[in-house]
Amino acid sequence: MLVKGIVFYLESDLPSEAKFLLEDFRLAVNNAIRAGLQARVTSRNALVKIAYKDFRQEHPKMYSQHLVSAFEVACGILKNHRRRVRKRVTSRIPYVKRLIMKAENQAYKLDRKTGVIDLPIRAGCHVELRLVVSRYHRKYLDDTALSLGSLTVLPDRVIVAFRKDAPKPYTPDSVISLDTNERSLDGLFVEGDVAKAIKAEFPEVAVIQQRHHDRRRRLQKKKAHDRRTSRNLCRREGAREHHRIEYRLHQVANSVLKFAEERKSAIVLEDLTGMRPKRSKELNRRLSMWPRRKLHQIIEYKAQWKGIPVVKVDPRNSSRTCPICGKIQYSRMGTEFKCECGWHLDRHINASMNLLQTAISNGMAGGLRFNPGAFQHDVMMILYEPAMAARSEPNGTSGIFEVT
Ligand SMILES: [Zn+2]
Repeated sequence: MLVKGIVFYLESDLPSEAKFLLEDFRLAVNNAIRAGLQARVTSRNALVKIAYKDFRQEHPKMYSQHLVSAFEVACGILKNHRRRVRKRVTSRIPYVKRLIMKAENQAYKLDRKTGVIDLPIRAGCHVELRLVVSRYHRKYLDDTALSLGSLTVLPDRVIVAFRKDAPKPYTPDSVISLDTNERSLDGLFVEGDVAKAIKAEFPEVAVIQQRHHDRRRRLQKKKAHDRRTSRNLCRREGAREHHRIEYRLHQVANSVLKFAEERKSAIVLEDLTGMRPKRSKELNRRLSMWPRRKLHQIIEYKAQWKGIPVVKVDPRNSSRTCPICGKIQYSRMGTEFKCECGWHLDRHINASMNLLQTAISNGMAGGLRFNPGAFQHDVMMILYEPAMAARSEPNGTSGIFEVT
C-alpha cells in the first residue's frame, strides 16, 4: 500500500473547539508517553491496557477514536525514543511541544466533492473544516483509485493521507541508466538501437550545502558562549537547508520521471547504500551523500506511485571499468574515461553505461539489450537544468511531502 500525504490549507482559522481538541490531544499524548515510560511498555495495546481507564476519567468527553489515536502517536514516539536510547544517542524524555493531532480514517469524514472535513470533537459536537482546493488538490480528491488514510491537523493546515495499491510496473520499451553525482545525474537513454547521453543538472544543491555549512560554522563561533542558542540556531539552519534542497530534488525527480513515463522507460540507478565518501572531514562534508540518497528515495517513491520500473545495481567499479574490453583502471582522474583499447567517453556517462550493462547481464532490464557501439557521441538530451526551475509550472508541486 502506498501512502502520500497532501497538505491542504484552511479557508478560515481553525474553530476554537478544534483548537481545544488539539491541546487536549497533545496533553493525552504526553500523558501516554509518561505512562508508557513508567510501565516500560511501547506497544499500543499494552499502553491502552494500562492507561485507558485513567484517561477516560481525565478526558471524559473526548471522542474515543481520538483517544486511541493519541495512544498510537505516543507509541510511535516511545519506539523512537527507545531506539535512540539503545543507539546511545543521548535522548531526553520525549515531550510533544507542537500542537498536532492525528485522526484515523474512521474518525473523520471528508467530502471529496466540496472539500469539507467533518471532524467530531466529542459526543454531539462536530466542527467543519473548509479546505482550500486547488487544481493540484483536485487531482487527488477526484481520483477514485485513491482511498483516504489518516488526517493530521495542525493549527494552520491539515495533511490528508491518500492511499492506493502499488500499480504493477509496465514492461519497458526503453531504458534510462543514471550515474548519480554531486551536481548532476548523468547517463544514457537507450531505445532500440540508439543510445544517447542524458543529463539532469542540479548545481545549486552543492552551493546550498556549502552556504549553509559556512553559516552554521559562523553561528557556532559567534554563539560559542551560549550552547543552547547555538544549537537551536544551527538546527533551524539545517531544517532550512533541507527544505531548499528537497524542493530542487523533487523537481529533478519529476523531470526524470516525466521523461521515463513518456517513453515507457525502465530506470537503472546505482545502489548507494553502504557507500561512504573519503575519510577526511573536509571531503566528508563536501561530498555529503545525503542529497543523493534523498534523490534516489524520491525517484523510487514517485516511480512506484506511477508504476515505472526502477532497477538498483551494485556500482562497484562502475567508474573505473571499460565497457568495451572490461579492463579495470586504477586511477579515475579527469573528466574523460580513456582506455588502452581506444575507448573514451565522459567519465560519468561511462559509469552509467557500466551500470546499464550490469543491469542487463543480471537480467534486470526486462530483456532489453544494449551495444556500446550504438552510442551517439554528439547528442545530449537535457532532462533538467536550473533554468527550468525559473519557468513557472502551472501544476507546481510545492507543498507535497511524502509519508511512509
Ligand atoms: Zn577498453
